[in-house]
Amino acid sequence: VQRSLVLVKPDGVRRGLSGEVLRRIEAKGYTLAAVELRTATPEILAEHYAEHEGKPFYGPLVEFMLSGPVLAVVIEGQRCIEGFRSLAGATDPTAAAPGTIRGDLGRDWGLAVQQNLVHGSDSEESAAREIGIWFTEL
Ligand code: ATP
Repeated sequence: VQRSLVLVKPDGVRRGLSGEVLRRIEAKGYTLAAVELRTATPEILAEHYAEHEGKPFYGPLVEFMLSGPVLAVVIEGQRCIEGFRSLAGATDPTAAAPGTIRGDLGRDWGLAVQQNLVHGSDSEESAAREIGIWFTEL
């Protein structure tokens, strides 16, 4: 069965939307395999966002991800990687379809980085890699 790493980013935790994100995951029928509130570190983020290093939004992205705790979650279920990305909606919360987490709860704040509430792994390979970064014991 597939696993995916989901993060409720600092904007989501700050706005009190952690429970709402978990509710939508569980309502979809996915299982929570691990949930932990934690503060990222520059080291964790350098690994997690290695593919974005050098992009113009990289610095603001890391700064944003360090601005408060994140809820790190491992979800489980058939095709949950694709399924959670459908639940999350498009990267840009203004463009994200209504009915999705970002479309229903997010908006553009005019900042250097898109504060779009959640992250979800985009492939089995990145899920395995990201779960190893955030949950060293799994
Ligand atoms: P998706 O793959 O749906 O975009 P993601 O979270 O995996 O979701 P990435 O493309 O991996 O998105 O980018 C990582 C994060 O960096 C985004 O979620 C967003 O917070 C930020 N980001 C991405 N592209 C931009 C951009 N052009 N301008 C500002 N911030 C961005």
